[in-house]
Amino acid sequence: MLRTTARNAFSKSNVASQRFSAGGSRGLKVLAILYKGGSAAKEESRLLGTVENELGLRPWLESQGHEYLVSDDKEGSGSFFQKHIQDADILITTPFHPGYVTPEVFKKAKNLKLCVTAGVGSDHIDLHTAVENKVQVLEVTGSNVTSVAEHVLMNMLLLVRNYTPAHEMIERGDWNVSQVARNAFDLEGKVIGTIGAGRIGYRVLQRLVPFAPKELLYYDYNPLSPDLESAVNARRIDTVEELVSKCDVVTVNAPLHDGTRNLVNADLLSKFKPGAWLVNTARGAICDKFAVADALRSGQLRGYAGDVWDVQPAPKDHPWRTMKNPLGGGNGMVPHYSGTTLDAQARYAAGTKEILENYFKGQAQNPANVIVGDGKWATKAYGQRK
Ligand code: NAD
Repeated sequence: MLRTTARNAFSKSNVASQRFSAGGSRGLKVLAILYKGGSAAKEESRLLGTVENELGLRPWLESQGHEYLVSDDKEGSGSFFQKHIQDADILITTPFHPGYVTPEVFKKAKNLKLCVTAGVGSDHIDLHTAVENKVQVLEVTGSNVTSVAEHVLMNMLLLVRNYTPAHEMIERGDWNVSQVARNAFDLEGKVIGTIGAGRIGYRVLQRLVPFAPKELLYYDYNPLSPDLESAVNARRIDTVEELVSKCDVVTVNAPLHDGTRNLVNADLLSKFKPGAWLVNTARGAICDKFAVADALRSGQLRGYAGDVWDVQPAPKDHPWRTMKNPLGGGNGMVPHYSGTTLDAQARYAAGTKEILENYFKGQAQNPANVIVGDGKWATKAYGQRK
């Protein structure tokens, strides 16, 4: 049986024979770019989103006569990704280790008909070109939104309560209560706002209610229904500038698109309340990395936390790895994993299979999963358009 990964050589003759299933119809070439799991993935089979565990799709895809190629090798013109995208019919990627599908990649991808994002967030695919080229883009909508909302709450708490420096102090063998308490606060009584109140943003608002904030605010060009607003007692603010000027804690929960790229830049950061906390688990490129690091260094931001970076994996010298506030804390950055808990992986692997199954059978897709349909936008979340 053909089993092609970055570790195993690609065999053209085997592939050719697999192109034709028993019924004579052509099996499809399905290419997946996933992250390397190493020994963790060998020991933990529920790490489904890894190169080793292949979203659990290989036996099923191969039993249908399709060819399944999996690799983490995605950068550069000689990469596995660039080589095999040229005749792949279907591409599976994840936001955690994104295979970037630029207009140049689309140009090479002569057979590409369907891109499936195993997770939520398809900004690593040039969606405008997907529309032009009539390549469908689907994601497993909702698969990890609770996982991310929980992470956002955790990030707010760890920043506001100054948790990380306190824990590092303990590991160092030190004990100085005042040194950490001098920058520790309660979430209760704070004004908290989200940029984007979709599936994740709304779940964040819901989870904040028991913390008794002073006020919950949101900015989204798609307003919540009055029922949803009143269920969490949230108020919509007309502009993002006004939102950030009112909040002690701001969280970003909007997709990355033309209207959000670099949205949180030096200018917007200067409009934040001095000493505010910012949590971004949406996409790194929504924030200007240097402006954020400067704002933290100056104390304009008291803290910044999240798991998303403008390029992934983040380079070793990325300023967000080591940036600190004037008291030596305020950094809650981790690798991109909030939406890839083992619970989430089970859901997005199952959702990917469902999307493929519908595609193979020519069945209608769940409309919530469709980002780009056949040559047209199918979502209102990736920017305002007529
Ligand atoms: P969603 O489509 O349910 O909601 C997104 C909301 O953002 C929509 O209501 C949309 O109108 C709003 N929005 C878009 N542009 C905006 C703007 N300029 N200003 C204000 N609001 C705007 O999506 P979701 O499921 O809530 O996910 C949101 C994003 O979170 C994803 O697109 C992805 O980038 C990110 N995400 C990250 C992880 C992770 O692991 N860190 C996992 C899942 C999703």
